[in-house]
Amino acid sequence: MTEDSNINADKNFIISEAGRCVACSLCLPHCPTYQLAQLETESPRGRISLLLAMANGQLPATDHLNDMLHHCLLCQACETHCPSSVPFSRLMDKGRHLLRQELQTVSLKNRVASKVIDFSLRNPEWIRIATQFTWLLQCLPKSGKESNKREIIDYLASKQQHRRWRTDYPAKVSGKQVSLFLGCVSRSMDGRTLDDAIYVLNQIGFSVIIPPRQSCCGALCLHAGREEEATRMMQKNIHAFAATETPIIQTASGCGTSLVAYKDYLPDKGFSSRIDDISHFIDSHWPDTLNVSSRKWVAILHTPCSMEKSATDTNAPFRLLNRFTNIDIRRVKSPYSCCGAAGTKMLTDYAVSSRLREPVLAQITREIPDVVLSSNIGCALHLSEGLRQVGINIPVRHPISLVADILRNQLTLGNP
Ligand code: SF4
Ligand code: SF4
Repeated sequence: MTEDSNINADKNFIISEAGRCVACSLCLPHCPTYQLAQLETESPRGRISLLLAMANGQLPATDHLNDMLHHCLLCQACETHCPSSVPFSRLMDKGRHLLRQELQTVSLKNRVASKVIDFSLRNPEWIRIATQFTWLLQCLPKSGKESNKREIIDYLASKQQHRRWRTDYPAKVSGKQVSLFLGCVSRSMDGRTLDDAIYVLNQIGFSVIIPPRQSCCGALCLHAGREEEATRMMQKNIHAFAATETPIIQTASGCGTSLVAYKDYLPDKGFSSRIDDISHFIDSHWPDTLNVSSRKWVAILHTPCSMEKSATDTNAPFRLLNRFTNIDIRRVKSPYSCCGAAGTKMLTDYAVSSRLREPVLAQITREIPDVVLSSNIGCALHLSEGLRQVGINIPVRHPISLVADILRNQLTLGNP
């Protein structure tokens, strides 16, 4: 596609889909940025008007408009409550893509940063090196307070691990197989969750294949308006997982939402329909003969907004954990649908992302659980960094890690 036909395709999509909005305002009370700011421009309806005006040529592409559109968390709470089924997140991605093409003011510094970030997302082992360059992260769309940003970067750098996985982790018995999607942030900062997923899958009789040439899911590029790079990552993943027809298991719900949407962007050869969330898969395939008891745990379970809107079963982590009678599972209670992590938001807009996190931290501080559980690495890092700031040492982990610990303990004790 030429640049002009790309621009026209974006405009046509926005004009046709934004036109479905009847301005009923039913989405407004569910939008976290509107809840905080009480401004129309910080609401889904206001953002749709901005996108429509831009696509119709009534509003010029400016850095200010770019900033306003990047305030959206892409939490999709508005989509869930929209009676007209406005595809808000696709509209926003298209709008950011259109804006990016029309903006002529991208500085050399930002262009270099953008290239390095793209390269790191395609080659996750480079995330560790890339994040050492603070200037790089300062080039992200909008900056928070510098001292806070420095702390987050230091925190993220401290979480990084260098890991490589084998291509095959056979189960001791049974010939059933699944493939595992590693994810760029997960493989560089959350190897433990991936190891625990492999362990539990093996224990319930599934061999795990890890296709070596898989890429980042593309979500961060897509949401930054870089659709071409995102599509290249999608193609790479479709190709990497094409050798088998196994289910593809993801351990980060943010990636999951993106992976199931590949079919909206290109012919995916059935890739999207093979995606499954680890908790959902394990719960659905839990052997009837495997009865496991655990010690008493108090766990606060956070449900990421990416899980609320994804095709996977929102309740799967709860159902899986509920198999162990000694776990007291408490749901996160927050007036906001998003904890504030929201992709790169925790780096680019610290003030908003930390305000959205406050109710979750307050609940954890009040109830002092043994563990906080979240199915998305971004949310887990954001909550964990918040707990560290208030001096509370409670681990934030993926639900599958708790299941893995319980199974390991049981097997060490010589039961099933
Ligand atoms: S709920 Fe849907 S139709 Fe109503 S204002 Fe929001 S986006 Fe528009
Ligand atoms: S995606 Fe979330 S933050 Fe963005 S407009 Fe919708 S509800 Fe608001």
